[in-house]
Amino acid sequence: MSDPELLRAAGTAVWGFPGQRREQAAPRPRTSATPQLDFPPVRNGLDYLASVVEHLDETESEVTPRDVKYAVLHLQAAVEVLFKARLLAEHWTLVFTHPGEASRKALEEATLNSVSTDKAIARLRNIVGVPITDKEQKALTKLTEDRNKLQHFGLTHNARAVEARAGAVLDFLIHFIEDQLLPYLDEPEATETERSLDGLREGLNNINSYVRERMNRIGGELKAEGAEHRTIECVSCQEMALVVQPRTASGLPDDWGDRATCRFCSTSWPPKGLHMYFRGQRSPWEPADICPMCGEAALGADVRVRSEATNSRYFCFCCTTAFATLVPCDGCGRQIDTWAAGSPPLCHECEEAMETEPEYELPYEGPEDYGFTEERG
Ligand SMILES: [Zn+2]
Ligand SMILES: [Zn+2]
Ligand SMILES: [Zn+2]
Repeated sequence: MSDPELLRAAGTAVWGFPGQRREQAAPRPRTSATPQLDFPPVRNGLDYLASVVEHLDETESEVTPRDVKYAVLHLQAAVEVLFKARLLAEHWTLVFTHPGEASRKALEEATLNSVSTDKAIARLRNIVGVPITDKEQKALTKLTEDRNKLQHFGLTHNARAVEARAGAVLDFLIHFIEDQLLPYLDEPEATETERSLDGLREGLNNINSYVRERMNRIGGELKAEGAEHRTIECVSCQEMALVVQPRTASGLPDDWGDRATCRFCSTSWPPKGLHMYFRGQRSPWEPADICPMCGEAALGADVRVRSEATNSRYFCFCCTTAFATLVPCDGCGRQIDTWAAGSPPLCHECEEAMETEPEYELPYEGPEDYGFTEERG
């Protein structure tokens, strides 16, 4: 793969990496020491980002699907070139798909197979030690998916969701440039970069304030409808705007209700699909899926609910009840939310079985199960 940014980055400044990179613990530890990073790839990345902001800024003009398309393409291009710039600063072989097969000739002639975005993220996290949260990593991966879909099929899915994700990545990249690239730049280049970053921040503010405005309006509607307790973080746009409908009284016994729809990005899912998403890797039809409120196998875990925004909850996608804590029953493994203090957690059925059948034994674990012998004085 030919990579003109890398060719330019492979200028003489790049060869000066003796692995003496400055500490990155403190943000912007720029000193008068020799700059270590060639500027063009950073400038190129900033230029892509300026285009992203132009396309997504609602204060300039209404954002069209075409704007979203070019914003995503340019954002992905910026991610690639900026991540590679940071990898180059760490060690030049890291921009190769297989660093073990790296050669300076391939880098100079830009004939290398360069690292994929997914691998670049892993190397930045694991080798360079760049703090990238799971949420940021997810947004970056989704961006790559969005870009691939756009390149092949055009904008087929919801522009709002794509736009919200792009805003999150833009926010991440502005910090990334500030913390991870600025310290490696020469004084005039750093000054120019800071000036560009100021412009980007202003644009990002306009984008974010538009998102905030819409979310404020949606929040008001949800409150008026009394729907905040069954509104969860959207799987697609990550806004707290996905409204889950409780099972309708008229529905079939196994019908949990209408599709859940996000008020922000308009994406919708069947409740059973959301349950599958939030139940994680458990094997199918475990007792742990059964909701203590309605008895349906519809429980998800780690769901962020709008009315309980600080902590994630267990959430039933059938009756839309949220639970702060659930504990599996000692007898049958079903989740329960209340039990008598000081006694082992038991559901009603198991408690009754214990009372009517005295020989019923709980799968009790004593200290001896863990290799301890009880000593009593
Ligand atoms: Zn959404
Ligand atoms: Zn339920
Ligand atoms: Zn039980």
